[in-house]
Amino acid sequence: RQEQFRALRGVESVSIDGVAVSLNMNAGLLVDLPQLEEAGAEGIGLFRTELQFMISSTMPRIEEQETFYRSVLRQAGDHPVTFRSLDIGGDKVVPYFRSAEEENPALGWRAIRLSLDRPALLRGQYRALLRAAEGQELKLMVPMVTEVEELRRAKDLLKKEVNRLSRLGHDLPRRLQFGAMLEVPSLLWQLDELMAEVDFLSVGSNDLFQFVMAVDRGNSRVSDRFDPLNRPFLRILRQVVEAADRTRTPLTLCGELAGRTLSAMALIGLGFRSISMSPASIGPVKSMLLSLDVKALESELLAALSERETENSKSIRKILAQFAE
Ligand code: PEP
Ligand code: MG
Repeated sequence: RQEQFRALRGVESVSIDGVAVSLNMNAGLLVDLPQLEEAGAEGIGLFRTELQFMISSTMPRIEEQETFYRSVLRQAGDHPVTFRSLDIGGDKVVPYFRSAEEENPALGWRAIRLSLDRPALLRGQYRALLRAAEGQELKLMVPMVTEVEELRRAKDLLKKEVNRLSRLGHDLPRRLQFGAMLEVPSLLWQLDELMAEVDFLSVGSNDLFQFVMAVDRGNSRVSDRFDPLNRPFLRILRQVVEAADRTRTPLTLCGELAGRTLSAMALIGLGFRSISMSPASIGPVKSMLLSLDVKALESELLAALSERETENSKSIRKILAQFAE
């Protein structure tokens, strides 16, 4: 099967009814980069910048960050890379960044919350990214946004760095795109304001599922208790697709869901035209897409979502599996 998937590397990712879906990979370290070619990914849909911080025993200096991002961009070549600014805290522990013990770390001082409280840290990271991407395209996104205001504040810090660099006579990126991750349910009731502030939106389905279902993603006792292919969760994702279509906002999804063949199929049926996953999943997902009739799936899926759920049919996994058969 591995060989079969390798043979698909150069094949365009288009369904049998002609729907193109951009298949991207998640990464975080330089060792991941060769996978772009190996797996045949279009780009890096999620670059987890916190990994450089997590494997270092001291805080990486701005110059080190810049060197690292430069290498990432050089190795990625023509493949677009979306860098996510620091997502530390919660399950992502950085040894030299000690904060007080928290009773609920997933809901605590993490990601953009921490970055906005330590603006020098975020500004330093933005500076490193801007310098590394001079003359090129730069895509940045903000993790764990809860309210649109946080995005505006992050954007202000980014603007300050852009102005500073141009004042100092540095070249800037040729094009700068600024996006948000949708992983906190509160954003679902701010979709139009949110879309007005961003160039693109990326659903972090791992955290979104955790917060929607109130299920700790790291606790095996509960993490598999509810099926992500349940109606409420898929209805939410459909609502996000509709809002993105309405406002013409480029949309992608970069959680684990994207890398499982059946759930990737569901996402495509919901209207996602770009997803990002672990490199090993690209082959299997592409193979599924190449034999998929998106129009037929869409009508079946939307019909299943509009049905009222009965006791045993909260998940539509069976319906999707039958369709896949
Ligand atoms: C997510 O939450 O779905 C996501 C992609 O980010 P992470 O897994 O790094 O929290
Ligand atoms: Mg997340």
